Amino acid sequence: MIGVTNDSKIVKGVQHKQCSRCKRFKPLDEFYKFERGSFGVMSICKECIKQYELRRREIRQKRCNDRYRNDPEYRERKKQKSREWNKAHPEQSKEWRKNHLERFREYQREYKREYRRKYQREYQKEWRRTHPEHLNKYRRKKKGEHE
Ligand SMILES: [Zn+2]
Repeated sequence: MIGVTNDSKIVKGVQHKQCSRCKRFKPLDEFYKFERGSFGVMSICKECIKQYELRRREIRQKRCNDRYRNDPEYRERKKQKSREWNKAHPEQSKEWRKNHLERFREYQREYKREYRRKYQREYQKEWRRTHPEHLNKYRRKKKGEHE
C-alpha cells in the first residue's frame, strides 16, 4: 500500500505533499522520512500510518481473542505462558493485575451506565406504545393549558 506519488504543491511557501491514503495535502513534516520516497518521505502521512497501525493492532487483537475462545490448545498455551510469566515476575504481575482490575472496573461502570441509558429509552418507548391512552391524556392536557 506504500507507493510513490508526485502529487505535491506549495502552500504559503511550504512544500506540501498529498497523502496517498487520506488524499489531503500536508507539509512534509507530517510524513515519516523515507529516503526512496518522493521528497524523501513516505507517501502516507503520519496520521494515516497511526490509524493503519491501530487498525492492524485491533485486527490482531481480535484474531487473538477469537482464537483464545475457539482453540482450547491455544488457550492452554496462553494460560501456561502467563502462569510462567507471573511466576518469573511476581511484582510486575501484581501491579499489572491491579491496573487491569481498575481498568476492568472502569469499563464495567461505563458499560452499566450505557446499558441503563439504553434500557431506559427502550422502556419508555415500550411504555408509550403499551399505554397510548396516557399519552393522549397528557397531550390533551398540555394542549388545553396552552389554549
Ligand atoms: Zn493521510
